[in-house]
Amino acid sequence: MTAQGGKKARGIFITGVDTDVGKTVIAGALAAIIKEAGFKTGVMKPVQTGVESVSGELAGDAAFLAKMSGSGSGAELVNPYCFSKPLSPYHAAKAEGVSIDPQVILAAYAKLSAANDAIAVEGAGGILAPVTEKIFSGDLARMMGLPVIIVSHPFLGSINHTLLTINAAEAMGLDVIGVVFNQYKNEPYPEPDFDLFRNQTGIQPLGIVPFSEDITDAAKLAEHVRRAIDVKPILDALSMPGAQRQKSYEDRDKKHAWHPFTQMKGWLRGPVTVIESGDGLILRDIEGNEYLDGFSSYWCNVHGHGEPQIKRAVVKQLGRIAHSTFLGLSNVPAVDLAEKLAEITPEGLDRVFYSDNGSTAVEVAVKMSYQYWKHVEPSGGRNKFLALGSAYHGDTVGAMAVGGIDQYHSTFRELLMEVDFAPAPYCYRCPLGEKRETCGLRCAGEVERKLADGAQNYAAMIMEPLVMCPAGIITMPEGYLARVAGAARRHNVLFIADEVAVGFGRTGRMFACDHEKVAADIMCMSKSISGGLLPFAATMASSKVFDAFLGGYSEQKTFFHGHTYTANQLGCAAALTNIQLIQERDIPGQAAAKGDFLGEKLARFRNLPHVGDIRRRGLIAGIELVRGKQTKEQYPWEEMVGVKVCAEAKRRGLLVRPLGNVIPLFPAPIATEAQLERMADILYETIAEVTGR
Ligand code: PMP
Repeated sequence: MTAQGGKKARGIFITGVDTDVGKTVIAGALAAIIKEAGFKTGVMKPVQTGVESVSGELAGDAAFLAKMSGSGSGAELVNPYCFSKPLSPYHAAKAEGVSIDPQVILAAYAKLSAANDAIAVEGAGGILAPVTEKIFSGDLARMMGLPVIIVSHPFLGSINHTLLTINAAEAMGLDVIGVVFNQYKNEPYPEPDFDLFRNQTGIQPLGIVPFSEDITDAAKLAEHVRRAIDVKPILDALSMPGAQRQKSYEDRDKKHAWHPFTQMKGWLRGPVTVIESGDGLILRDIEGNEYLDGFSSYWCNVHGHGEPQIKRAVVKQLGRIAHSTFLGLSNVPAVDLAEKLAEITPEGLDRVFYSDNGSTAVEVAVKMSYQYWKHVEPSGGRNKFLALGSAYHGDTVGAMAVGGIDQYHSTFRELLMEVDFAPAPYCYRCPLGEKRETCGLRCAGEVERKLADGAQNYAAMIMEPLVMCPAGIITMPEGYLARVAGAARRHNVLFIADEVAVGFGRTGRMFACDHEKVAADIMCMSKSISGGLLPFAATMASSKVFDAFLGGYSEQKTFFHGHTYTANQLGCAAALTNIQLIQERDIPGQAAAKGDFLGEKLARFRNLPHVGDIRRRGLIAGIELVRGKQTKEQYPWEEMVGVKVCAEAKRRGLLVRPLGNVIPLFPAPIATEAQLERMADILYETIAEVTGR
C-alpha cells in the first residue's frame, strides 16, 4: 500500500456540530494562531461543496483558510475536491459523476505534512457527513491520524448536538482536543454550564468566541479568537510531531512490553512499528505509514478493520452492559449466539462452552473429552490423546501437549501429558517418504493403525481439519479428513476438530469440516468468531458428550472448568453480528471465488527458483521457500529466510508473518481482487529480491 513516510507535521482536524456554525472562521483563526505561534502552517479543506471552482485555483473556504495561514500550497493539495452543488461531499461528487478517492486526500495531506510543521484541516459539514459510500468526514481525520476540534455554538440545542458529535467522534476512534463555542450569529445565548459539560464528557470547553462582523483580516481574527479561547491544548497537540510520537512509543514499548513468540533481544535492537488505526485491509502506524494486512491480523479479521456494523453492535452492547458472569447467570447475547452457533455448525454440535482464545477453546476440548471417559468408562484407561505430528493447537499446557512442533513444544515436553502422534499428511515432504499422490492415503492408514492398536487408551483424536495452518499451511489431500474422522468414530474415540484458524468461511465453506461432511464430537473455534475484534472462543460439543456430564450433585460429574470472562457480552455481540454478516455476505462463497483468483496470481511464483511448493485452500495460502528446488533442500532456520522475506514485504507495504520457511497469505475475505493482486505482486517481488530470481 502507500507507505506515506516522511511525515513531519502534526495537524488538527476541525469539525462542527452542524453546518453553518462558523467552522471555517474558527478554522481560519486557528490556522493564523498556529502560524503566529511559530509553526510553518499548512491548511487543507479536503472536500468543499457549493463552490464553483476554476481548475487549479483556490476558491471558497479553501481560499479563506489559505489566506489566514499564509499557506502558499496549490489547490491540488489544499483542496483536492471541489464541487458546485451544495450537498454532502458524497452526493455533490456523485452529482458530477465523480467518486471521491480517500487515497488522493491522504496523499495530498502527506505532501503538505512533509512541507510544514503543522496542518489545520477543515472537514466538510459535521463528523458524519458522507464522503464516500462507506467513509464519513470524521473517518478522514482518523485516516490522517489527527485529533479533532469541535466547533459548536452556545445557543439552545448546543448541549445535545455537542455531545452527539463527541460520542460520534470517539466511536470513530478520534481524540477530541476540545470544543470551541462560536457565537456565529449576533443573538443572545443562555449562560453556559461548562462544569456540567466537563463532568459529562471529560473534554475541554475551550471557550466562547463572541460574534464578530469583521472576519477578513487574519491578524485581527486571530486576536479576537485567541482572546476568547484557551489555545494551549491545541498548541500542545501540535507540539509532538509524528517522528517524536513514534520514538516515544518505541522507547516505552522496549522498556515495558514483552512480545509473544519474539526473541526480545532482537526486538530491543530493531525498529518498532506502532499501529494506531485501521480501515478495511489497511493498518496504519503512528507515523502515517500504511500497510496491507495480508494475514488478517493473525488470521482473525474477517470483514476488514473498522467494520461499522460489528462496531455498532459492540458499542450498543457496551451501552447495556459489558460483562456479567456466566457462572450462575445467563445473558442475552450469549443465548442468542449459542443458538446461532448450534445452527451453523455441523449436525450434532448443539452445545456451546464459551471461553476467550484458541488455546482455551482447545484446553476445554481436551479436558472435556478426558472427563467424558471418566463418566462413561469409570474403570479408566483413556489417558492418552492422538494428534498429528507438527500440529499446533495453542500454548496452554493441555493444548501444547497435543502439539507437535518441536521448536515450540520440546522445552515443555516433561510437563506435558502423554500423546501419540501420527504423521501429518504433508505431501510435499511426506513424513513416510511417499510420493505426493500416495502420501495422504498412507498417512491416513497410519492413523487407522494407531486407532486399531490402541483405541481403548485414547480419550480423543484432535486435528485441524483440512489445513494445518501453524504447521506451515499444510493442506490435506481430499478425503483424508473424512477417512480419519470416520476411523475415530469406528473405533469409538472422540474426534476433536480444531477450527480455530480455518473456521468461519476462509476455506470456502463455513467450516472446514463441512467440505467432507465430518461431524466432530467436539469443535474448537476462536479467531474469526468475533470477526477479529475481540478475544472470544467457543468449544462446541455434541449431546453425546454433554449428556455424559449430567448427574446428581454428589456424583461429581460437573465439568469443573471456567474462565472469568466466559460468555463476555461484548464478545458475544461481536460474534453474533459477525456471523450474521458472514451469512448475508456469503463470506464462504467469497473466500472460494477470491481464493481461486489468488491461486491464479500465485501460479507464477512457481517460476521463482526458490519457491518449492504453493499450497492453498480457499483464502488460506502458503508459499514454501527452499534452498534447492530439485532437492527440496530446506533453508536452515538460522538463516531466517522467512523472517527476511516478511521484513522486506513490510518495507513494501505488506504485512505477513512467516512460519519458518513458509510465507502464508491469509487475507480477510472482503479483500478486493485488486488488493489480492497487489499482495501477490509485492510478495513475488519480495521473494525474488530476497532469495534470487
Ligand atoms: N489452534 C490453531 C489451529 C491455531 O492456529 C491457533 C493460533 N494460531 C490456536 C489453536 C491457538 O489460538 P490462540 O492463539 O488464540 O490461543
